[in-house]
Amino acid sequence: MSVFLTDALSRTLLLMRDSLGADVTNAQLLSALTDTSVVLAADADAISTHSGQSAFVTAALLMARSGHRVYLMSPETTLIGDQPPLAGTRLVDGLLQVGRDLLPTIAFTAGPPAGRVDLVVRFGAANPQVEAGQTISMNAADWSATLGPGDNAKAWQADDWPFGGLAAAALAAGEAFKTSMRRLREHARAPAAFDVAHAPANPVCVELAPPCTPRVVSLPDTDLISGGALTNAALYALLRLPGATGRMRVFDHDDSALSNLNRNMLLVRSRLEIKKVDDLARFSGRLQITPVARRFDKALAASERLPSTVLVGVDDIPSRWLVQKLVPEWLGVGATAGFMAMSSFHTPDLPCAGCLHPIASEAEGPIPTAAFVSFWGGLLLSAQFLRHLAGEAIEQQQMVAFPLRAEGNYSHAILADRECPVDCEAARKRKSAA
Ligand SMILES: [Zn+2]
Repeated sequence: MSVFLTDALSRTLLLMRDSLGADVTNAQLLSALTDTSVVLAADADAISTHSGQSAFVTAALLMARSGHRVYLMSPETTLIGDQPPLAGTRLVDGLLQVGRDLLPTIAFTAGPPAGRVDLVVRFGAANPQVEAGQTISMNAADWSATLGPGDNAKAWQADDWPFGGLAAAALAAGEAFKTSMRRLREHARAPAAFDVAHAPANPVCVELAPPCTPRVVSLPDTDLISGGALTNAALYALLRLPGATGRMRVFDHDDSALSNLNRNMLLVRSRLEIKKVDDLARFSGRLQITPVARRFDKALAASERLPSTVLVGVDDIPSRWLVQKLVPEWLGVGATAGFMAMSSFHTPDLPCAGCLHPIASEAEGPIPTAAFVSFWGGLLLSAQFLRHLAGEAIEQQQMVAFPLRAEGNYSHAILADRECPVDCEAARKRKSAA
């Protein structure tokens, strides 16, 4: 097994260990991922929409970043909109090229597999004649995605708005990952809980926003704090908005490393050892991305004037407080914790990011995380951002996703915390009312 592949997947292996005993070896974890075979099948209807193309490309990239063997069964077609990090104008060809530049030794195969596969994913009414352990049918509307049983395929519904398709891809990638995990059941620490967590999904519809939420593509000046996985995922989604315009600055001091390839959705292997922000800026177009190669720390916070809208994707909780103390008019925070992904928004009158995350994590060392989990975090964050821009009045400040069991996704309000480390207005009001 390639030592480079082990390094590239090191964070994913850590996350897998969450529910497994210490006896399982890295080689066993890697085999479980790389032995997982998936057919992605799209018909001409689905793949002739920007939504369907976004779903297909994203599912392929998410699964490849978890080391799975992915077969692309789609008619070759012209890309309708941008699909970064794909280059060129062809969908299958673009994926094959990027596939050779992702994880070491992992690449896509165009066309059908020689035999049986673990999972077939049908986008729209595609009907590949492939034997599979599990078959699922994906579909999407503007803001929602459905996962249904394999015999329930219907014509692709969404057209050019990509969010539902992106959620469909995230759902499908979670199913592929569970297939890998089920290979390791004999190592489960708590077999009954393991079975519940890793059973195939029940039919599910996930909503990122109410169905009639207006489409907004004119984005305000926005700062993104961190160039890591959450920012990658949020930008990955926003760069797919048809005709999006706006100016964004990204703050991060770090270079991309091999161990980021498992989850940074815009990163490819030939762009390692480059500043994360400089790499993200190469996708600048009508949506301008300006790199700021500095850590967002107290000194920078004191000197920098932030725009009214800020998206934060840093793991470090005190850094979230630091941004919140500058009281942006709208702050979005995307995060993951184990197999959970979440996003919250904060305005000056509402409970703040300190109320929601009041304790600085003690955890040290590399953070366990996988492609589809980080992607959910960035997808929720970008969806909340667009709902804000659409003028939607939202009471439930936090959205929570369970990428292995998306049936349990939910949203909720945030309570002001009297001990809020930011000492925000909502917290002070709650204290004085007590
Ligand atoms: Zn607060």
